[in-house]
Amino acid sequence: MKKPLHPATIAAHAAGALDPQSGGVVPALQPSTTFLRDENYVLIRPDNIYSRDNSDNMRQAEAVIRALENAQDTLLFPSGMAAIAAVFRALPNRATAIVQSGIYWGTTAWVRDFCARREITLIEAHAADLIPTCQTQPADLVLIETPSNPWLLTVDIAAVKAATKGVLLVDGTAATPVLTRALDHGADIVMHSATKAINGHSDVLAGVLSTAAPETAVWQAIKADRKMAGAILGPFEAWLLTRAMRTLPLRVERMSQNALALAQHLMAHDAVADVFYPGLPHHQGHDIALRQMQGGFGSLLSVLVKGGRADALRVTGKLELFLRATSLGGVESLVEHRHTIEPHTGIPENLIRVSVGIEHIDDLIADWDQALA
Ligand SMILES: *Cc1c(COP(=O)(O)O)cnc(C)c1O
Repeated sequence: MKKPLHPATIAAHAAGALDPQSGGVVPALQPSTTFLRDENYVLIRPDNIYSRDNSDNMRQAEAVIRALENAQDTLLFPSGMAAIAAVFRALPNRATAIVQSGIYWGTTAWVRDFCARREITLIEAHAADLIPTCQTQPADLVLIETPSNPWLLTVDIAAVKAATKGVLLVDGTAATPVLTRALDHGADIVMHSATKAINGHSDVLAGVLSTAAPETAVWQAIKADRKMAGAILGPFEAWLLTRAMRTLPLRVERMSQNALALAQHLMAHDAVADVFYPGLPHHQGHDIALRQMQGGFGSLLSVLVKGGRADALRVTGKLELFLRATSLGGVESLVEHRHTIEPHTGIPENLIRVSVGIEHIDDLIADWDQALA
């Protein structure tokens, strides 16, 4: 048997996407919405009828993610939220869902609203309480996010899987498939906002689900709903994603190195009260991160500056390289004052969330030093 290829090789070759028609070493972009039948009314390509179902460009991008995740099936969606919504939409009315608290705010807000409308029992549990909650409450679906955004807590995927009979959905956006293959750790479905590091250039909105068990009822329901309801990614976005993923392992490696170096530097800085980063030994969940993440701890960290809201905002205002904008996982470094965005969720007022890009680390550290000064 041939040895499986390394992620860097899969990505650089875009899982073998070429253009046989022209001989191009990159895939062609095919925007057609409809596809020809011959004079006997037989489709020229049986898998291409109408582009609401699928497209060659979407299949090419899905093949790369499928290989990186060690998955059996992968489905792209027009956003990360659309991917999460697709899983919840597959639940029957009056089901029970356990959802980790203190995760991506957009997920929490949407899930609360959806569960109320569909009479789904929603149990929110802190990362530290997830396993006992799963052991005592039978659930149809369990959603965890590891590392979590913006607290950077790591959750043991295999331990949660062992504690529940429900479908385990893991939001692995902050880890990327390069640092954690959630399916290998026992997740039933892994989700990523491909808008973040998977695309990595802040110019495509996309989401993705992958599974190792495509024959399950929940996956079949998700797949049928995407096909019928049309929550797909356009060919151009899929083409851009395939192009961006060629450098995904390279970008993740550099972003993780930069993030660790910046986290260590800031932790030792007099004007900083704390740094949340899975790669720092004092951080809660570092032991799990060591077991569950390989090759780095990701690009996301949160910094608690000494002082309050005004001090945090003054620091973000002084930064020159770190752009003040939401989102994460891009090649350019970003900062965000999360309390301004979600003031009622217990985010500390002195917390600055940082997405570390691929710039030179000395420039990034110098920028923080001058801002903190
Ligand atoms: C951004 C993000 C999402 C939502 O993804 P979109 O592509 O913005 O819809 C979900 N989970 C996490 C952890 C995210 O960072």
